[in-house]
Amino acid sequence: MDLDAKVPPGPLEKKWDAHVDSIRLVGPRNRSRYTVIVVGTGLAGAAAASSLGALGYNVECFCFQDSPRRAHSIAAQGGINAAKGYRNDGDSVFRLFTDTIKGGDFRAREANVYRLAQLSMGIIDQAVAQGVPFAREYGGMLANRSFGGVLVERTFYCRGETGQQLLLGATSALAKEIHDGHVRMHPRTELLDVVVADGRARGIVVRDLVTGAISSHAADAVVLATGGYCNVYFLSTMAKACNVTATYRAWRRGAGFANPCFTQIHPTAIPAAGEHQSKLTLMSESLRNDGRVWVPRKAKDGRPPSDIPEAERLYFLEERYPRFGNLVPRDVAARNAKEVCDKGLGVGPTGYGVYLDFRDAIQHAGLKVIEGRYKNLFEMYERITDEDPRKLPMRIYPAPHYAMGGLWVDYNLMTTVKGLYAIGEANFSDHGANRLGASAMMQCLADGYFILPVTIADYLSRNPAGEAKPDQPEFKRAEEEVRERTRRLLAVNGSRTVLSFHRELGQLMLDKCGISRSRAGLEETLQKLPDLRERFWREVKVPGGDGELNQSLEHAGRVTDLLEFAELMCMDALTREESCGCHFREEHQTEDGETRRDDAEFAHVSVWESGGPGGPPRLHKEPLAFEAVPLAQRNYKT
Ligand SMILES: Cc1cc2nc3c(=O)[nH]c(=O)nc-3n(C[C@H](O)[C@H](O)[C@H](O)COP(=O)(O)OP(=O)(O)OC[C@H]3O[C@@H](n4cnc5c(N)ncnc54)[C@H](O)[C@@H]3O)c2cc1C
Repeated sequence: MDLDAKVPPGPLEKKWDAHVDSIRLVGPRNRSRYTVIVVGTGLAGAAAASSLGALGYNVECFCFQDSPRRAHSIAAQGGINAAKGYRNDGDSVFRLFTDTIKGGDFRAREANVYRLAQLSMGIIDQAVAQGVPFAREYGGMLANRSFGGVLVERTFYCRGETGQQLLLGATSALAKEIHDGHVRMHPRTELLDVVVADGRARGIVVRDLVTGAISSHAADAVVLATGGYCNVYFLSTMAKACNVTATYRAWRRGAGFANPCFTQIHPTAIPAAGEHQSKLTLMSESLRNDGRVWVPRKAKDGRPPSDIPEAERLYFLEERYPRFGNLVPRDVAARNAKEVCDKGLGVGPTGYGVYLDFRDAIQHAGLKVIEGRYKNLFEMYERITDEDPRKLPMRIYPAPHYAMGGLWVDYNLMTTVKGLYAIGEANFSDHGANRLGASAMMQCLADGYFILPVTIADYLSRNPAGEAKPDQPEFKRAEEEVRERTRRLLAVNGSRTVLSFHRELGQLMLDKCGISRSRAGLEETLQKLPDLRERFWREVKVPGGDGELNQSLEHAGRVTDLLEFAELMCMDALTREESCGCHFREEHQTEDGETRRDDAEFAHVSVWESGGPGGPPRLHKEPLAFEAVPLAQRNYKT
């Protein structure tokens, strides 16, 4: 597997500009000859499809929702980072870059992260031009707040609904291109396979989710913007439909999968209330700007929070990490919350919850100011828990939230399959082993608006347009395999629901490949997964047929891929014999319970190649060099 990242030569701060100056372009008159498939209409996909359409390419865009603007990105709450330095608090491109490299525990590629920090400023300008209503200061300047792992305020936000507003901006641009005929939109259509011929991506096979029809679509390049896979844990903060199918199918066709075990468990979600729950709700990290995290010092303390005096409260993040306090990065906050709950200090009916308390902030700044920042989050919390966070502290607990792992891509965002690109959360991203808050949307929009539309031209210009045809044998074979999988799923006719298998998978993965992992637990899970799969294929019941709207069938297809993909996650976690960021291996920790990296052995991206039917996956490594930010132990204490 060729893992040449194609990082341009030259000084870090000049690489991107020099690259743009030197790559090949497609002239304006020739662009409409090229067809590009974009799968996904979240921030990454909508930004890419609209930008490619505006450039004049012929774009075919797919999503499984009924409307592009219902993609999961709409759920993003807290904000988007950019190194504008409006606060005059010492921020800069270099500081955003170093924060991201350190936040990711030195497991990201320097050149990509530097480019992301550089492009961050243009994203805000683009969004403002689209009419995105960012919060403003009294004088009209865009307002900023802080997110975890940083000491500056660089997060731009629209109250607690930043993703929705940014997506409205991006999908408005997309709607214009659809109207102008540059983008053809295929909603309610699910990619079920990627077609590769002669080592190049030639198109995709999809199922119309309303009629069940299977069809092939050919193109000169394929872009996957299909989001992350945290629903492998069943309960997560992600939209219920998020899944791994597109990237996993691409992996089966030859694309390398990078760092699949790097998944982020976010520290602040509303704790699960019972066994039948199917979704967890995030309470944005932005709340930790003002909310203080604590638990009672005494185990199993049943008193209401207001009866617990100050001296008997353990502000565990503030005490342990005085420099960053409640705004330590997510991996650190999540592990500490689990640790205090494991010691019996947790609150709420299950004992798996910690307080996030706004009492002091409201006393200090006043309710009006605090509500101005978080009103919709307070309302959301109150609707779900029937408790008013203005009067009682919120109860929160970590929940699966974001996938740092994804398809491996080079500097041009191309996977190991020529002509197949991955952008947004679907690629292995710039976030290393732990994404900092408010950096996901920044990466999605940098990929979609600014990077891919330029880099894809280099590939297209080297290949004649219109070579791929849907009647090629590779398309026919892929279509037949898709039909056969569907037939098999419907034929099992067992007695267990797809949901019950998904739940069982999720529990297993959360216990053994979640916030903390151990060799014994991972080996046990690798033993159990084949049995779970075997039982799925013997006992599952998928009602309905394939020629109609059938959500059980859709779910079953996604769960079969998650059941296989989970094994890759565990193999990756097992082979990475170190702790870094969100990947906490119990065997590799410092004396005070922090992550212990092994830079000599593991300063690399782990890239897995499919071993084909029945063959074991093969591990390859992209070495990482740290020249601008010297390798160091992360320190959020002093
Ligand atoms: C609750 C919540 C709050 C968040 N808040 C923030 C925040 O404040 N700041 C921040 O930076 N990040 C935040 N994030 C993370 C961020 O929202 C996501 O990482 C980002 O939106 C992902 O965008 P995307 O375009 O990569 O994918 P998505 O938005 O997940 O879109 C995926 C698209 O792919 C399509 N798709 C997927 N598979 C297929 C298939 N097989 N066939 C056809 N179509 C397919 C879907 O239809 C969809 O259109 C938050 C995440 C969550 C869960």
